[in-house]
Amino acid sequence: MSKLELVFVPAPAVGHLVSTCKFAEKLLDRVERLCITILIIRPPPPWDVSIDAYIKRSSSAPEGRRIQYITLPQAEPPPAEELAKSIENYFSLLIANYRPIVKEAIISNKWPDSNPKIIGLPPSSVLFLCFGSAGFFEPPQLIEMAIALEESGVRFLWSIRWPVDAEPTKFENLLPEGFLERTKNRGIACGWAPQVNIFAHEATGAFVSHCDWNSTAESVWHGVPILRWPLYAEQHVNAFQLVNDLETAVKLTLDYRMRKSDYRENVKAEDMEKSIRCIIDSENPMRKRVKAMGEICRKALMESGSSFNSMGRFFETILDS
Ligand code: UDP
Repeated sequence: MSKLELVFVPAPAVGHLVSTCKFAEKLLDRVERLCITILIIRPPPPWDVSIDAYIKRSSSAPEGRRIQYITLPQAEPPPAEELAKSIENYFSLLIANYRPIVKEAIISNKWPDSNPKIIGLPPSSVLFLCFGSAGFFEPPQLIEMAIALEESGVRFLWSIRWPVDAEPTKFENLLPEGFLERTKNRGIACGWAPQVNIFAHEATGAFVSHCDWNSTAESVWHGVPILRWPLYAEQHVNAFQLVNDLETAVKLTLDYRMRKSDYRENVKAEDMEKSIRCIIDSENPMRKRVKAMGEICRKALMESGSSFNSMGRFFETILDS
């Protein structure tokens, strides 16, 4: 049976967003072949309060998700005097300004085709690149990454994001000329990707990651080794631990930036290519280590496992206090 895709564009207010998300989840429970995209228009202040926290929480929910949340770049707001005249009219005008942005977002964030292109591929042969809900790179860095992918000859699935305030554009405009055409038999560039499903697929061989917590836990759980590329926040700590303590990741960069404006040198294509060859190598002993680590994670969640016990103690502490 073929897949169905549904796109919701809730009105820009947290009340509309929450009910749309809840409704979408109910639909997904009932219709297995459904994938849902929720395009989020951030309301102008003061209506934006609490929406960011909600988006963050929803978009990081774990496991086998057929739902993706895309925050749209800001459209030109209507003149302020419209608001003084009528709030309803102001919002209608605001939503109308989003028409081209919504169209572009639908085109560039289509769901990968139920992964048919990775069916029948050799096990552990595809490199998956994804940097969470917000990790993006400037075009010069994207170009270095594309060269590395092309030169390495590896099969890849590359989830590309751009800054929330940037105009969405076609991937062709960001990547080296002809790259997508030249690699079309072994690579896909996409927007939001069903990450957990991808990890669960036997063809997935390695993960280039910003090492934020959900991505780290999901890849280790599925026994997929990581090529580490932390960007901000606690990702550097996770990345350090993955490489130095657990030895389940290959290092690529560990370049700490305090602020968005701090200078960061681009990772060079040849360095990335070398690391890709190393991580995708079927003989790399890291493969066995990360699979074993996945088993340890599963045991930790079982009855009497360490995570199970800690959770129990946590509940007891709350109930006793
Ligand atoms: N995710 C996904 N597809 C994407 C990007 C992210 O399914 O294209 C999911 C991923 O599986 C994880 C979450 O979004 O559960 C991202 O959380 P993480 O802590 O790794 O990164 P953050 O978004 O907080 O930087």
